[in-house]
Amino acid sequence: MLKKFLPNEHVKSIFDIHPDALKLKGIKGIITDLDNTLVAWDVKDATPEIVQWFKLMKEHDIKVTIISNNNQERVKFFSEPLDTPYVFSARKPLSKAFKTAAKEMHLNKDEIVVIGDQLLTDVLGGNFAGFYTILVVPIVQTDGKITRINRKIERRILNYMRRKGKVTWEE
Ligand SMILES: [Mg+2]
Repeated sequence: MLKKFLPNEHVKSIFDIHPDALKLKGIKGIITDLDNTLVAWDVKDATPEIVQWFKLMKEHDIKVTIISNNNQERVKFFSEPLDTPYVFSARKPLSKAFKTAAKEMHLNKDEIVVIGDQLLTDVLGGNFAGFYTILVVPIVQTDGKITRINRKIERRILNYMRRKGKVTWEE
């Protein structure tokens, strides 16, 4: 069961994810979290670097869908200027939003990676739904209310797995 919390890969930030490396693995699409993955949870707009990253993915024909547990207002306001599909109130870790996103991208599971900063929502959800998962370090250490509780649980899981030698990265 705890295995489901482990990402397939762990990187520092979204900017460590490059289209060429994805393509070598046969990846044609990305499902990404928003808050603390693309920008800090309290930043409303995409930064120039994020705009550039989305552009780069588009140039390489890699489709990107944002799926977030946050509300419509937040997710719509952020995603629309990027001209990228999105799912709000996604209820991660439930599989439904992941599956919907994959279907709308017209891609198979093995052609998509799931990226996020949380084990309990992004990684667990992505793993449950059968995708390759990539964990990023949260952009800021502060969080919204619900996330704060998740972080406590996450820390326990990580500490446990570290003791078992299943987690090798450092924070
Ligand atoms: Mg997040």
